[in-house]
Amino acid sequence: MTSKAVIAIHGGAGTIVRASMAPDAEARYHAELRAVLAAAQRVLADGGSALDAVTQAVRLLEDCPLFNAGHGAVFTSAGTHELDASIMDGRTLQAGAVSCVKRVRNPIVAARHVLEYSEHVMFTADGAEAFAQAQGLEFVDPSYFHTDARYRQWQLAREQQRAMLDHDGATLAAQTPAAQARDDALPHEPIDPNRKFGTVGAVAVDLYGHVAAATSTGGITNKQLGRVGDAPLIGAGCYADDATCAVSTTGSGEMFMRMVAAYDVAAQMAYRGVSLEEAANDVVMNRLPRIDGRGGLIAVDAQGNVVLPFNTEGMYRGYARVGEAPVTAIYR
Ligand code: ASP
Repeated sequence: MTSKAVIAIHGGAGTIVRASMAPDAEARYHAELRAVLAAAQRVLADGGSALDAVTQAVRLLEDCPLFNAGHGAVFTSAGTHELDASIMDGRTLQAGAVSCVKRVRNPIVAARHVLEYSEHVMFTADGAEAFAQAQGLEFVDPSYFHTDARYRQWQLAREQQRAMLDHDGATLAAQTPAAQARDDALPHEPIDPNRKFGTVGAVAVDLYGHVAAATSTGGITNKQLGRVGDAPLIGAGCYADDATCAVSTTGSGEMFMRMVAAYDVAAQMAYRGVSLEEAANDVVMNRLPRIDGRGGLIAVDAQGNVVLPFNTEGMYRGYARVGEAPVTAIYR
């Protein structure tokens, strides 16, 4: 037994709207992050696996409308939702992922089932839904994923004719005079929702020194149908290996894919022999910015070290060691 057990989570990275830092919105994010950390911490304290802890954390983040995953996911250019998720077990290097699912309530649970019960690693679209259905997973009407805040973000993005990162969209919507005049204006969020990547993720080390990672997202606002980002790609948005680390990313997915960002952290540790901190910082602060990659990641190693670097102004994040109070943060 070790006391290195720890869970870390993120809820997206982006630009902080200094003018609109409303204390109650900030408090709400902290409270949600703390609640998720506490639940996952209990899984670890009870002797549960890192894999179970990250599944639990991401499932709760998917159910929370504040984050761009599951309920609260961003809209595609067609006004629909296409969800991506992935999970990896550092003990066995088993992995599971789904992309472009539209009716599975918790994409991370579908990814977990792919890991556990399929000889394959990833299912997409109709095939992913057929697999989830055969596994008896919970399905919802697509309207379940609708939230008014994301809908307004999407309308703004359409007006601007571009695809928007989730947390890049919310603030923009909140800031228009028309929106501010309305009662239903987006709450002023600490991180500019119009300049934020709202993907969620979790990494953990369990009491037995095994690591796991999970990532889930709605992608980016106004994305083209069928667009798949880094989140469901093992190696880009998610990676775990007991020998090195577990990583979950958030940011401009195309750049994280091109950098194979999550795996690069593990590879640098393995091949360059550097620490978790040095490897993660190199990817986020040096390598991604070379191709204009914006965002961050969370990572743990089997020794219980935790890093949460990001190259944006803020990232919703937190960690909780077993037996200690959860720590949450938004800004630098
Ligand atoms: N990385 C995600 C994607 O490109 C976006 C995010 O992090 O919010 O789909």
